[in-house]
Amino acid sequence: MHIFKFGGASVKNAENIKNVLQIIELHKQEQLLIIVSAIGQTTNKLEELLNSFFYRQGTHLQLFDEIKQFHFQVLDELFEDKNHPIFDDVLNTFVEIDWIIEEDPQDPYDYLYDQIVSIGEMVSTKILSAYFETCGLPTKWIDVRNYIHTDNTYRDARVDWEKTEIAIQRDIPAMIQSSIPITQGFIGGTSENFTTTLGREGSDYTAAIFAACLNARALTIWKDVPGILNADPKWFSSTELIPELSYIDAIELSYYGANVIHPKTIKPLENKEIPLYVRSFINVSGSGTRIHKTTESLSVPSFIFKVNQALISILPNDFSFIVEDNLSHIFNAFHKHKVKINMMHNSAVSFSVSVDNHEDQVTALIEELRKDFSVSYLPNLELVTIRYYNQETIDRVLVNKEVILEVKDLYTCQMLIRDKAS
Ligand code: ASP
Ligand code: MG
Repeated sequence: MHIFKFGGASVKNAENIKNVLQIIELHKQEQLLIIVSAIGQTTNKLEELLNSFFYRQGTHLQLFDEIKQFHFQVLDELFEDKNHPIFDDVLNTFVEIDWIIEEDPQDPYDYLYDQIVSIGEMVSTKILSAYFETCGLPTKWIDVRNYIHTDNTYRDARVDWEKTEIAIQRDIPAMIQSSIPITQGFIGGTSENFTTTLGREGSDYTAAIFAACLNARALTIWKDVPGILNADPKWFSSTELIPELSYIDAIELSYYGANVIHPKTIKPLENKEIPLYVRSFINVSGSGTRIHKTTESLSVPSFIFKVNQALISILPNDFSFIVEDNLSHIFNAFHKHKVKINMMHNSAVSFSVSVDNHEDQVTALIEELRKDFSVSYLPNLELVTIRYYNQETIDRVLVNKEVILEVKDLYTCQMLIRDKAS
């Protein structure tokens, strides 16, 4: 059994969806289960729609029209038969959003987020499944909310592994014998049958959950890059493909922000020693990256950049040392305001962190911390993490930059930097 995951870019238009079909055709002698994300930028668009609706910005109906039109254009290009039931099916699925937005927002933001944004995956999987079927592939559309059972932490739902494993093992093996099941990434369901989501880019995690519960032979994530590279081509002119990676290195890289795989993806695979392949859907003959059990460490230094960082430094007002009770208070505040710490450093009297500079959350956090601490804030920084660093790699990233804060261990060097004043 082999799990395939296709992300938004791989299904961003009719042409790419046809390409996905070809990839599946190439592998159909295997037992496959397919996990799919929302089409292209649909998740971002649905987020915009929700924001406009929730904060009454007045553009949500127009945004909704654009999203629907876009999907119907894809349908139009895929299906010659304009009376195919998929047209109605997709329309009816979008109606769930109509029901939510016809009245003023009644429910909390995070709850509404999951009900609205999850529709992206519902329609993408319906479209793919119907299209593959017309092309003669024995597909079976599955509602993932009956399998990925979660708590009700909307937007960041926790998976109930026990329930999930029972449900998956009960139904899926038999289905895979006679068909190719297609289901939604990113989404789960609560015990009260409400829809939840697993966090942005969570489809990789969904695929890993299925792989682990089914003891799959492998999971392959098809992407628009040749595999995992040692740096983001956005920041580096020359990058190298990493052919093999240990689970630990993969976790470390994704933890520090390499935008290749969702950080929660690796652990379930590691537990069951299931290899993860990251391959290109554009160049399907490329071998990509294999993440598996190996004691070999990364063959090349890897670089991870995070821009738009802010340094927040926290000092107790009474000059008491940074001790455990201060720290737990501080961490609680970060957790409450959903501000994720990308790097931290503490000294006897201060505690400093680098965070993504999301204005609303960070402002609220600082306001709260200032009740008990003296807080300084420095925006417009970049955080660079080098895994398997040496002096040469450090020098390379510091050209015309100055270091504000640096944290090193044996394998990883993190530097908070900014442009040198000229
Ligand atoms: N569609 C969701 C997102 O864009 C989930 C995913 O792509 O993994 O975040
Ligand atoms: Mg995506």
